[in-house]
Amino acid sequence: MTWTDSLPSARGKLLRDEPLGPFTWFRVGGAADVLFIPADSDDLADFLKALDPAVPVTVLGVGSNVIVRDGGVEGVVIRLAGRPFAGITTEGDAITAGAGALDAMVAKASAKAGLAGLEFYAGIPGTIGGALTMNAGCYGAETKDILVSARGLTRAGAWVDYALADFGYTYRHSEAPVDIIWIEAVYRGTPDVPEAVAARIAEITARREQTQPIREKTGGSTFKNPPGHSSWKLVEAAGWRGKPFGGAKFSELHSNFMINFNDATAADIEDLGNTVREDVQSKLNVNLEWEIKRIGRPV
Ligand SMILES: Cc1cc2nc3c(=O)[nH]c(=O)nc-3n(C[C@H](O)[C@H](O)[C@H](O)COP(=O)(O)OP(=O)(O)OC[C@H]3O[C@@H](n4cnc5c(N)ncnc54)[C@H](O)[C@@H]3O)c2cc1C
Repeated sequence: MTWTDSLPSARGKLLRDEPLGPFTWFRVGGAADVLFIPADSDDLADFLKALDPAVPVTVLGVGSNVIVRDGGVEGVVIRLAGRPFAGITTEGDAITAGAGALDAMVAKASAKAGLAGLEFYAGIPGTIGGALTMNAGCYGAETKDILVSARGLTRAGAWVDYALADFGYTYRHSEAPVDIIWIEAVYRGTPDVPEAVAARIAEITARREQTQPIREKTGGSTFKNPPGHSSWKLVEAAGWRGKPFGGAKFSELHSNFMINFNDATAADIEDLGNTVREDVQSKLNVNLEWEIKRIGRPV
């Protein structure tokens, strides 16, 4: 008998040995020992309270900034899927969004409510949970510019409330404990004409189509931009734009995006990233830091 035979009961779905590749943009990686899709936040809180504290817990959004390694993920992986986690409401200049809501849907709701400031979320293909963890941003705006507060659950299943200042946000980084599972966030927009907000969203969406491989199996920006540098220029200068490595390569369209173009394994993709980091360090003397999160066990 192992820990997976004595899981706490739950109203949501508990799936053993569930492949995670289909839940990520790269479409690679092994299985979760257990994948839990809670019915709602109470279900999740009760499950976490009853789960053996020794079992590791990992949250996945829509997997647009992760590599799940080929050996799968130890413990319980949680996905906040479905309506109970994806609600979006507006009141005055406040927008409240569930952590499972797509950033793009929140941007759309902000336009409908005539609130400016959240347009950039239209360009980020993740969820609010992922945005809170990554301080996601683009075109000069970041999550920290619009966030008011967020609610989450600790690993022990207790509710916590975080004000913006508690996140200690820097570029693509939060100082909040990594084991908090974000459930809901409150944002503030600035009143504007709905059509004007919608027009800016349309511009961002069109720009994305032209500049990023958004229909490929990718993970977004591979590396953070080092101070004073653009990662895509460094990758290109080191000769890696479009160069195949196993089934992976850095995109011709955007050379800070890796793509799985030919049945790559997670190891191909991660090894490519590490090889390029070393190459850029030795050729150009710049340290590239991973932006993409890598989770799970190598094979
Ligand atoms: C084509 C493309 C373009 C992109 N462009 C941008 C861009 O312009 N700017 C940008 O910032 N990013 C960009 N990204 C990266 C990515 O979309 C963002 O980082 C996004 O915020 C990740 O959200 P996700 O739901 O996919 O999270 P995942 O990739 O599933 O997870 C990312 C991290 O967030 C954590 N996480 C997810 N949900 C929760 C939760 N509820 N509670 C706690 N932790 C959680 C995960 O554990 C993991 O550590 C792009 C990605 C792609 C594929």
